[in-house]
Amino acid sequence: MERKKIVVIGAGPAGIAAAVEVKEAGLAPAVVVEKAGHACDTIVRFYRDGKRVDADYQKVKVAQQGLLSFATESKEEFLAEMDSVINRHVLDIRYNQECHKIEVKNDTFHIHTAGGLSLEANIVVAAIGIFGKPVRPAYPIPKELRDKILFSLPKEPLDGKDVLVVGGGDSAAEAACFLCQKNRVTLSYRRPNFFRINEINMCTLNGCCCEGKVKTKMPSDIEGLEPEGKRIKVLFNNDTPLSFDVLFYFLGGSTPQVFLENAGVRFSGRKPQADECGETNIPRLFLAGDLVLDRGSIMGAFNSAYLVKNGILSRYRELVTV
Ligand SMILES: Cc1cc2nc3c(=O)[nH]c(=O)nc-3n(C[C@H](O)[C@H](O)[C@H](O)COP(=O)(O)OP(=O)(O)OC[C@H]3O[C@@H](n4cnc5c(N)ncnc54)[C@H](O)[C@@H]3O)c2cc1C
Repeated sequence: MERKKIVVIGAGPAGIAAAVEVKEAGLAPAVVVEKAGHACDTIVRFYRDGKRVDADYQKVKVAQQGLLSFATESKEEFLAEMDSVINRHVLDIRYNQECHKIEVKNDTFHIHTAGGLSLEANIVVAAIGIFGKPVRPAYPIPKELRDKILFSLPKEPLDGKDVLVVGGGDSAAEAACFLCQKNRVTLSYRRPNFFRINEINMCTLNGCCCEGKVKTKMPSDIEGLEPEGKRIKVLFNNDTPLSFDVLFYFLGGSTPQVFLENAGVRFSGRKPQADECGETNIPRLFLAGDLVLDRGSIMGAFNSAYLVKNGILSRYRELVTV
């Protein structure tokens, strides 16, 4: 078992920022364990190629507090910038190491990964995000339809399909505008108006709607799905069913509750309990990024890492000074 002072779990924006913050504060450098073979896997997997990465996401402006920040740029530019942050700060990231357990042992934590790594740490920062498990609808998805129901844009482009996009945030709007270039797209949202979509996406969406490339169906209340030959029959409350070839859900992510509860983290409803520095009810176990944010974003993730570092510095400096 390798002994480390600080272990960060997850090399997304929050995990990378946490490792940078503690290193630049002169604390013991963190080891970061990442389940994918590269950093920022949520961005690699869920953002379509060329996507604009908004610094003000879902209409929320977040002022920089910590060391990391970025200006709106493309997915590729953002990922290149994160790679250069990793190299510039010589971060110790162990890839292909999915942490499946955080064990609390007296004064230390034992971190076990699927890649066979065992680490002992004084302080753990969990920054594993919420997109490992996208939110699914409350109604069941019939197994015959599973290959037609998607939670992110496919690598292979779709062409000439009837597509239903479900959701009311920026991801749903971006997906609808992208897919409508080659498909007939309907965007279904349960509320009467969009209120979370940022101005650029709203403007693009309005343009697509005016040109008749995207139809909106709102408020709409989907009650269930049924197979209809090779298509999907979508059943609405108080409305006629509609038929589609492919259905996309962009309903956000869900907190990895079981993983955190197994480590002893208490929850209030679906939110893990954490104080202003991200420290949980388990002393020295911190949370950063989407796990602790009400409205997750990259800038929010960067800032939460700065707050974690402040918590470590003010509460546990003697444990983590080199
Ligand atoms: C389609 C889409 C578009 C978006 N667009 C924007 C945008 O334009 N602007 C913006 O600010 N935000 C955007 N967001 C939100 C943004 O991506 C998140 O808020 C941000 O990525 C959160 O960072 P994080 O580090 O907390 O989590 P994540 O980015 O989810 O990173 C978590 C990391 O932890 C790793 N991990 C997970 N479980 C484990 C484990 N058990 N062991 C080891 N590693 C693990 C994952 O592989 C991943 O690399 C978008 C999200 C989506 C889904």
